[in-house]
Amino acid sequence: MKKEAMVIIIYVFISIFYSGYGFAGDPVSVFVSIPPQKQFVQQIGKDLVDVQVLVEPGADPHTYEPKPQQMAAISKAKLYFAIGVEFETAKLDKIVSTNPKLKVIHTDHGIQKIPMDAHHHHEEIEHHETDMHHGQDHEEKHDGKGLPDPHIWLSPSLVMIQARTILNALQEMDPGNSAVYEKNYNTYISDLTKLDQDLKNTFSGNPGLKFMVFHPSWGYFAHAYGLEQIPIEIEGKKPKPSQLKELIEHARENQIRVVFAQPQFSAETAKLIAKEIHGEVIFIDPLAENWSDNLRQVAIKIKAALRP
Ligand SMILES: [Zn+2]
Repeated sequence: MKKEAMVIIIYVFISIFYSGYGFAGDPVSVFVSIPPQKQFVQQIGKDLVDVQVLVEPGADPHTYEPKPQQMAAISKAKLYFAIGVEFETAKLDKIVSTNPKLKVIHTDHGIQKIPMDAHHHHEEIEHHETDMHHGQDHEEKHDGKGLPDPHIWLSPSLVMIQARTILNALQEMDPGNSAVYEKNYNTYISDLTKLDQDLKNTFSGNPGLKFMVFHPSWGYFAHAYGLEQIPIEIEGKKPKPSQLKELIEHARENQIRVVFAQPQFSAETAKLIAKEIHGEVIFIDPLAENWSDNLRQVAIKIKAALRP
């Protein structure tokens, strides 16, 4: 009896403590577009944030359609971190107009985008200022030659820029915990710096290493580590037979052994090329939620993709 009474007293005490004084306030409810962003926000917000991802695992962020229950969940969120992926162009306006209190932060702000790799001949990467953070100049067809490459989450140095934007937004939303966010951010930046250095080391002996991939998600990654991405998709479409023949020749000439595919797209064309070069198809996921571990694994796979 005595023990039960004690439990009740403790329970009542805890309830009063939490509700009355808001000592352990509710975490800031945050929405992000794609799974890797969840890690970015969590590293800075830790248990002060509750992060939900809009584009579900396995779904394609170019064409995603949010579900009605997700739209309802967004109405309870305080912050939305947009990253400039294609479906945002079509959906963000609606999300904002139905949730006027929701604050949308564009984490591609301040990032210079490179044009999408559109065909397999290496071209000089041209830097140009593009202000894509409102998605206004995003055309419907993606991956066309010269269109800005949206895959800015696949380079640690670009994630550092996004981390700063995330930090600023969390501090503004929840100024009471400003110092905590700052501390977490600093730790995260050191982690990202280490990751970047490790990846540089991984590829330091392979300047200009070429890898073939169906959908050209890895442009920034390739750019950061001195690699060359050879996309199979041409302007967002499967290659025509003549282009396919050219790709197969190109793969043979370059000692390519592995053709990369990603879970969100069909691997059919990749399989066809792999068969022709007596190679294999390996999946690498640009949208994995365990972002940093995934990037390390991808690096190992890309490094091993050439014939010895
Ligand atoms: Zn893509």
